[in-house]
Amino acid sequence: MSAGANPDPRHRVLVVEDERALAESVRYALEVEGFDVTVVATGREALERYRAVDPSLVLLDVMLPGSSGLDVCRRIRAESRVPIIMVTARDGEADTVAGLELGADDYVTKPFSMRELMARVRAQIRRSDRSGTMTGANEVLCASGVELDVDAHEVRVDGEVVRLRPKEFDLLESLMRRMNRLATRDLLIDEVWGPSYFGDTKTLDVHIKRLREKIESNPSRPTRIVTERGLGYKFVDV
Ligand code: CA
Repeated sequence: MSAGANPDPRHRVLVVEDERALAESVRYALEVEGFDVTVVATGREALERYRAVDPSLVLLDVMLPGSSGLDVCRRIRAESRVPIIMVTARDGEADTVAGLELGADDYVTKPFSMRELMARVRAQIRRSDRSGTMTGANEVLCASGVELDVDAHEVRVDGEVVRLRPKEFDLLESLMRRMNRLATRDLLIDEVWGPSYFGDTKTLDVHIKRLREKIESNPSRPTRIVTERGLGYKFVDV
C-alpha cells in the first residue's frame, strides 16, 4: 500500500468461511472494529474476491466445500504477502502445520472467541502496517546481526556489506521472512527457483552452504541458518 495517497484507509478484511452463522458473527465483530468486510464461502470465490477487493488481511477457513483453504493460501501467497490467518478445526494440527509452511502468518482453532480473533487480526494488521510504511523508504529485514535491504538488494553482516549472488539473496530473504519458523525444502525451492523447477534438490544444499560461508562466523557450526533435519532450514534470531 503506498504511503501518503490515503492517510487513513479503512482496512478491508476478506473472510473465507462456509459456515454462514460463524461468518456473520465474524463479520459483525470485524465491523465493530471498523473494518470493511467481504465474506465468501468457497475457495474459487476467495481468489476472485481477493483480487477484486485487495484486502489488508485474509481470514481463511481450511475446510471449504470444493477446494481446500490450504490451496487458497498457496495461491494467494504466490501473489502477495497479505497477512493470512488460517482457521483450523480442533483436530486439524496437520492442517495448521501445512498452512504455516505455505506462508500463513497465524492461525486460530475452532471454537475461538471473538476477542481472541480480534486480537490476532489487530496484531497482523499492525505488523503489516509497519512493514508497509517502510516500503516508502526501503524494507529492511534485521536479525542476528544480518540486515537484508530488500529493495537495495544489499546485505550487511555485523555492519559489513557482504556480496551475495541473486539466488543466495533470494534464499536468505525467504529464510528471514520466516524468522524462527521452519522453511521446508519444497517451499524454499519453490520460492527461489520457482514451482516448475525439477532439478536436483542438492542445489538447495549447495546454496545454503555458500550462504553460510558468507554470513556465519563459523560456517561448520551455523547459528543463523540452522538445519531442521529431514525438513528444511530455519533462520534463527538470537
Ligand atoms: Ca468450513
